[in-house]
Amino acid sequence: MNPAEKSAWIKSEALKSGFLTAGIARAEPLNEEQKQLEAWLRKGYQGDMSYMERNLDKRVDPAGLVPGAKSVISLAYNYYTPDRPVPGSLKISTYAYGRDYHKVLKKKLKALWNSIRMQLSPDAQARYFVDSAPVMERQWAARAGLGWLGKNTLLIHPGHGSFFFLAEIITDLELEYDEPTWDHCGTCTRCIDACPTQAIAPAGYELDARRCISYLTIETQNDIPEEQVQHMEGYIFGCDICQQVCPWNRFSRPHEEPEFEPGNDFLNWNRDQWIKLDESQFAETFGHSPVRRAGYDKLKRTIGSVMKGGKG
Ligand code: SF4
Ligand code: SF4
Repeated sequence: MNPAEKSAWIKSEALKSGFLTAGIARAEPLNEEQKQLEAWLRKGYQGDMSYMERNLDKRVDPAGLVPGAKSVISLAYNYYTPDRPVPGSLKISTYAYGRDYHKVLKKKLKALWNSIRMQLSPDAQARYFVDSAPVMERQWAARAGLGWLGKNTLLIHPGHGSFFFLAEIITDLELEYDEPTWDHCGTCTRCIDACPTQAIAPAGYELDARRCISYLTIETQNDIPEEQVQHMEGYIFGCDICQQVCPWNRFSRPHEEPEFEPGNDFLNWNRDQWIKLDESQFAETFGHSPVRRAGYDKLKRTIGSVMKGGKG
């Protein structure tokens, strides 16, 4: 097979494996993206996420992760569901309803890479990633033509919206590369206007993570500042608001992944049940879910803060 045929085969195999879409970028240093990342770090927008400052060389050059890397295969895996908590209750970001996506997707990536290698080149080398190593996932997805980086800073696919996980296979296989698409945000400012904590820059395309509900409820172990507690909109783990308002998400379709089904009926819990959540119930309900990342103590503190804030 020539590189174009190999790329076409990989994409069709990715779809057969359940991925929503796939694109391929040339593995090269992310020079422009590096400048943007460094400017963002200088502003201190990463807050307590000091890991963002580490491994910068690997983060911007795929050859630092896979010697001789030639291609970055970027993949999207749908997690959208219209299921919502009972009205008036507390909210968890949709991506965290089911089993931890790192585990679910790693298995799929391993199987996909094995079939690529067997079919195309048994000696090929690769590593695969799901939000787990210094890989600039959204930037690679944009380069691979999966979509554009919207004003909410997320990768938006013109046919599928943004409710999907990104994953990558970095390989030394030579393939045919996709072209990036253009920015379809236009004059829309819905995400900027809807963000309750004004975490998105007034002109978009930049996020002060320290103000973002996802950061406040997951990344930092500090208490949620008084000024933000009023604006949590009932979210106790992550936040979906800037995705829910994005017009491109009218194209989202429910996922078909059984592992992403909500566990233990927590969508039907009322606020009282959330307040009474004890450690063993937390382990039983969220032991295999991304919510485990926050930990029981942090989640309980967040529940207390959000209840005190009262809104949502
Ligand atoms: S996830 Fe929520 S808090 Fe964060 S930028 Fe989007 S709307 Fe704002
Ligand atoms: S809500 Fe509008 S501005 Fe924001 S990412 Fe979506 S299209 Fe772009």
